[in-house]
Amino acid sequence: MTSTSSADLFARAQQVIPSGVNSPVRAFGSVGGTPPFLTDAKGALLHDADGKEYVDLVGSWGPMILGHANEQVVEAVREAAGRGLSFGAPQAGEVTLVEEVVSRVGPVEQLRLVNSGTEATMSALRVARAATERDVIVKFAGCYHGHVDALLAEAGSGVATFAMPGSAGVTASTARDTVVLPYGDRDAVAALFAERGSEIAAIITEAAPANMGVVPPLEADGIGFNRFLSETAHAHGALLISDEVLTGFRASREGYYGVDGPTGTDDAWAPDLMTFGKVIGGGLPVGAFGGRKDLMGLLAPAGPVYQAGTLSGNPLATAAGMATFAGLDAAAYETLGSASRTLQQLVADALTTAGVPHVIQTAGTLFSVFFREEPVTSYEDAKNQDTAAFTRFFHAMLDAGVYLPPSAFEAWFVSTAHTESVLDRIAAALPGAAKAAA
Ligand code: PLP
Repeated sequence: MTSTSSADLFARAQQVIPSGVNSPVRAFGSVGGTPPFLTDAKGALLHDADGKEYVDLVGSWGPMILGHANEQVVEAVREAAGRGLSFGAPQAGEVTLVEEVVSRVGPVEQLRLVNSGTEATMSALRVARAATERDVIVKFAGCYHGHVDALLAEAGSGVATFAMPGSAGVTASTARDTVVLPYGDRDAVAALFAERGSEIAAIITEAAPANMGVVPPLEADGIGFNRFLSETAHAHGALLISDEVLTGFRASREGYYGVDGPTGTDDAWAPDLMTFGKVIGGGLPVGAFGGRKDLMGLLAPAGPVYQAGTLSGNPLATAAGMATFAGLDAAAYETLGSASRTLQQLVADALTTAGVPHVIQTAGTLFSVFFREEPVTSYEDAKNQDTAAFTRFFHAMLDAGVYLPPSAFEAWFVSTAHTESVLDRIAAALPGAAKAAA
């Protein structure tokens, strides 16, 4: 007899899918236990194969910003599906979706759609290398940009969760062209450019790192870290790639760019290229990379940089993306901000009452909880937290029906469906979980 419990599904999956999952952090490797196999979801609630209901704080790692099975999004996908699943030819939805991104984010003059954030960052690197005719890419420890060979060195997210330095299977020559620096370390950036500036094609950074937990860029002498990176890169003929796959259209209406991007006349430091994903696909597979028209003009067929995709810009994904954007008006960001702030306060109160050291960090409406007292400004800091306390907290929350990211290195994701009654359920679970963490 075929059983459909999570435990049985996981056992079957482990026979035929590596570690039983199609993306590492889903395996619950660092927290232990059997991951719930989900059957359906609505709003902020998930249901699993064992008949259990959870309040979701993962949101498919970002895309479900309007909650699960949002009626407008589902209807848009249904309608698009009835007209054809994929054409491999131009269709109006691509234009509409790209126009929306271009209208929201100043530095994006042109954009190309792909199928994942990984593809977006990989393609942005290729454009940067072609434009500068240089090889070296600078990234920061703890920043995750997808599983691109060149960007797996000291990445956050799943790589942090499993304490991997990078990945086997990446060639030495690829790794040699990637320089990893500590996040926020201006002296290290300046020293590297002084020594090797003429070899560097681009710096890639998360606009606000959120894959080692949320570590917002800090100001020094009135200059934000992103601006510092842009000015340093430009002074040496290199480019800045700002990765907003996670923060895009979540941190604010314009993504993190709307939180600390250039304003008014102060626009000389804008990123040259930007990458997006998650929210712009509303739950279907989408990524995008874009930026200055002269750089994007290097892409084939007009230019020499090859990049392509069978399913890129397919009508289902663009319909889901547009329906999601349609729901992301000013009121939606108010709701997200308010849910995020309420949840932060609830968590802080519970952990404080139980005497659990913690610090909560934010980037716009995005936040995460570190199980340590001192602020986290680097990957080293992020690793220096009480992950055992997090694990106890995580399992107590899960038992009480709250589905948190199964790693101490991830942001927590709220949606516009995290209404007061949903937050009340989280509030009820918190005191017990905080006590378990203590
Ligand atoms: N860049 C950032 C900042 C991300 O957070 C992620 C995924 O979490 C990616 C790139 C890769 O996106 P994908 O998982 O869609 O390949």
